Amino acid sequence: MKASEIRSTFLKFFESKGHQIVASSPVVPGDDPTLLFTNAGMNQFKDVFLGFDKRAYSRATTSQKCIRAGGKHNDLDNVGYTARHHTFFEMLGNFSFGDYFKHDAIQYAWELLTEHFRLPKDKLWVTVYSEDDEAYEIWNKVVGVPAERIVRIGDNKGGRYMSDNFWMMGDTGPCGPCTEIFYDHGPDVAGGPPGSPDEDGDRYIEIWNNVFMQFNRTEDGVMHPLPKPSVDTGMGLERITTVLQGKHSNYEIDLFQNLLAAAKNAVDFAAGVTDGSAGCDAASPSLKVIADHIRACAFTIADGVIPSNEGRGYVLRRIARRAIRHGYKLGARAPFFHTLVHPLAVEMGEAYPELRQNADRIFAVLKTEEERFFQTIANGMEILEGALAGDTKQVDGETAFKLHDTYGFPVDLTADVCRERGVTVDSAGFEAAMNRQREQARAAGKFKMAAGLAYDGVATAFHGYEHLVCETSKVVAVYVD
Ligand code: ATP
Ligand code: MG
Ligand code: MG
Ligand code: MG
Repeated sequence: MKASEIRSTFLKFFESKGHQIVASSPVVPGDDPTLLFTNAGMNQFKDVFLGFDKRAYSRATTSQKCIRAGGKHNDLDNVGYTARHHTFFEMLGNFSFGDYFKHDAIQYAWELLTEHFRLPKDKLWVTVYSEDDEAYEIWNKVVGVPAERIVRIGDNKGGRYMSDNFWMMGDTGPCGPCTEIFYDHGPDVAGGPPGSPDEDGDRYIEIWNNVFMQFNRTEDGVMHPLPKPSVDTGMGLERITTVLQGKHSNYEIDLFQNLLAAAKNAVDFAAGVTDGSAGCDAASPSLKVIADHIRACAFTIADGVIPSNEGRGYVLRRIARRAIRHGYKLGARAPFFHTLVHPLAVEMGEAYPELRQNADRIFAVLKTEEERFFQTIANGMEILEGALAGDTKQVDGETAFKLHDTYGFPVDLTADVCRERGVTVDSAGFEAAMNRQREQARAAGKFKMAAGLAYDGVATAFHGYEHLVCETSKVVAVYVD
């Protein structure tokens, strides 16, 4: 089954159960300032769950474009390194707005997986919220999943495992306990079952989350019961496709194979690899990063975002630059990333016509962005070459910091180049310069507050794109690889 058939089988199955098929909303949420990008199928129904909005239907099903590269659900750093995470992915979902609840949700999920998709029952594991005896009983007594494959998991506040069976859209909004379905990819893959200490491996992969929407969490942390208990589910199309195509990693499915090949060609061409030689390693995680990121960038631009230094445009810029740096790492010395827009439109344009309609514009936006970043890289390289001249054995922290802070030349690119030349970077010196910079920024902020002055523009030097993530509600400092 191709990914496109799996998508339509899902939607038709729920249509046959009385669900209205609703189109995906854009990746940029319409009027929700709490959200950077659409991160789940339920986002477009948030007000329906909260009781502020009414629809002509009480059951819906969607295939939703999602981006998880910032905010509460941020998978950016995982991409390329786990078998299952993307920045952009499609979430298949079914929703009940005060209609059916736990019984039907669980039974629909099981019916679709085992009867229509014909997954072997003994490969499926489920988790339930630790206190949710009702969900436990439905799985065990009604559906017949043996107790040894049902795991109770709490809300993991400060716990040591990553599992968390209380789903929240963000810090505020609809939320509730959930039950998740995992697929066991077999003993050849490292990793333990959900709830075990090595659960973050890729053997047991979560495919579907069924959330029992019961509360609205407000900013003060209070959980207000929703007008009617509801259901919100999400299954990653790429993950279920991986299982159904007998693969282990999402990057092995039909959709990604062509994109990965296009990424390799583009990188090799930009690296000046001539016919006959093998070019970069086809299995490199960097190619996965590039194939993933072109989807996030293209869909984001198609929905109206352009690269900038703040908010959504900043996240877009950060994703694009991360992809370009991975290409650089593989040898690309000229813009290549934007050339993947058309291969992507061929791959996904039928399901998402906005990709085809906007392909030329997306190409142009990314090309400009990429040319700029390659110029930044070229400027930085000149300075770095200067620092590497002679028989230098170490690049000092001040230089690495200046490259990063003033020239926007990422510190890990400095580290990569140095590693290739057998030179080290004084990372303690870099950290010290960074801390000094932070202190200065803080002191400047305090001074302004004390003096009662209005904010009048940027007080300090540009900190580098790789350094700050701006969200709509807060600014968080992070490093990316
Ligand atoms: P994980 O624990 O694997 O990070 P999650 O618990 O964060 O997943 P949910 O918020 O429950 O994911 O989202 C519902 C479903 O969407 C998941 O069961 C999975 O199939 C899919 N999904 C979530 N995050 C991603 C991602 N980054 N890339 C691809 N699919 C994803
Ligand atoms: Mg996650
Ligand atoms: Mg999970
Ligand atoms: Mg989950």
